[in-house]
Amino acid sequence: MPLPDMHVHTSDSPDAEIPARILVRRGREEGLSAIGFVAHLDMNPEDSCYDSFDPLGYEESVEGARRESENRITVMKGLEVGEPHRFQARAKALADYSDYDFIVGALHHVEGAGLILGDEVFRNSEHLPIVEEYYRETLRMVETADMDVLAHMGLVRRGLAMAGLDHAFDEISLWPDLLRGILSALIQREVALELNTSGLRRKEKTTYPTPRVIELYREMGGERITLGSDSHRDPHVFFGLAEGRMILLEKGFEKTFIYRAREPRPLPLFG
Ligand SMILES: [Zn+2]
Ligand SMILES: [Zn+2]
Repeated sequence: MPLPDMHVHTSDSPDAEIPARILVRRGREEGLSAIGFVAHLDMNPEDSCYDSFDPLGYEESVEGARRESENRITVMKGLEVGEPHRFQARAKALADYSDYDFIVGALHHVEGAGLILGDEVFRNSEHLPIVEEYYRETLRMVETADMDVLAHMGLVRRGLAMAGLDHAFDEISLWPDLLRGILSALIQREVALELNTSGLRRKEKTTYPTPRVIELYREMGGERITLGSDSHRDPHVFFGLAEGRMILLEKGFEKTFIYRAREPRPLPLFG
């Protein structure tokens, strides 16, 4: 079954290496149905991709990739906006959202704590309060930001695993109302939840969010789900999509979604 990858970084972002047109060629070789490119739009000075976004260069790259696709694979132009609830006005001044197929909202930094991508933030503090604050801020983000997809919910495990701390906690038991609040805000605001497979190749060996959170989202009536590898370089390109699909089928999803001009389009997961 051809799958889409809705979270693919290109060499247009300073932390990623492969040009968009090469990724399209490889996507065709591997039988993908669609590729959703994302460029980092980070306005937080602590972020490694701060102030690096070049809208014209990115547009050219995606256009080149579209030509390479020969219409055999759907190519989408997306943005991964870091902390969109804090920097929304500036994000929209830098990028005209109506020029994009989809906008992904991403939380990489917890206010008052720091970046949760690495272990530094967990070195001298109790970690569970930071994890709780990560989810509180995720709720503020999904309640207010203009976005189509929530990226990698639970990414906080990445920094925890790097710091050698426990990452096998169950956020639903720890903060049931908070977790339900996030999922219900997604459903009400028609923002898709992303199943991000990049954690499967890391120490924590789980998806973001975990299969348990995916299950709760489905139980609550959530349908809009995207699938993405969040790859930045080899050997991670398109990694984990088949496993992600298995998790979605197991949890009762029949479709996944891609976006064109900020409108969701379902794709079947089987048949
Ligand atoms: Zn991210
Ligand atoms: Zn990403």
